[in-house]
Amino acid sequence: MRANARHSEHADAVLLRSVDFGEADRIVTLLTSRHGKVSLLARSARRSKRRFGGALEPFSLLDVELSFGHGELGVLHAASVTRAFPVLLRDLARMTAAGAALELVREVMPERTPDPSVFACTIAMFDALSQEALATAPLALAFRAHVMGLAGFAPRLSACGVCGKRPARGQAAELDPARGFVVCRACGGAAHRLSGAMRELLICALEEQWLPAQDRVYAKDEIDAAARALHVFIEQRLDRQVRTTAGA
Ligand SMILES: [Zn+2]
Repeated sequence: MRANARHSEHADAVLLRSVDFGEADRIVTLLTSRHGKVSLLARSARRSKRRFGGALEPFSLLDVELSFGHGELGVLHAASVTRAFPVLLRDLARMTAAGAALELVREVMPERTPDPSVFACTIAMFDALSQEALATAPLALAFRAHVMGLAGFAPRLSACGVCGKRPARGQAAELDPARGFVVCRACGGAAHRLSGAMRELLICALEEQWLPAQDRVYAKDEIDAAARALHVFIEQRLDRQVRTTAGA
């Protein structure tokens, strides 16, 4: 067993999924800073408090020791929590948003493809969800749009995808999730209306500074409509069912 411990290394990580395996093992999917998304076998993870402690729970920044052999599955040797987000864990809406964020990351990221931006924005999401003053719904929406953008699936919201006409800043528009762009009325419009405020939030979310402004208050029906539109867009792009953070 120790042969697998050769060339082990440390990495910052976030737990994306943990599945019991065999008598006492677990197979864990981590998002790591150095290797992107990785699947690892954690031997005796359900027994060894020394090597894993309570670290194989979601919503923490972890320090992990891991190694890769010849197979698909690497080995997780040890894990410890380097940063916890207790405020996040005290609120169901925040935990749900964080869970959906991790699920999207897991769905959208290819295995062993490092992407420091995705890792950084996942930690930034945990951070933001730990600030009680920040509203959860706009944050969840901005995160989903941002991650889709990082994965190369940014929806086109600045100009009509048919004629190229650009709505004024802050103007509402209609999104065609299947085609991945907004369509102006003259070109027939589309099924999902994005309010001016939501369109602006989503456009900003595709930028590097993706976090929504703290002092903005958004109407719930506008957020819900935008969340539904983005959800359909994500499903179309990923071609599978992804959990929604919308109330619908
Ligand atoms: Zn048009």
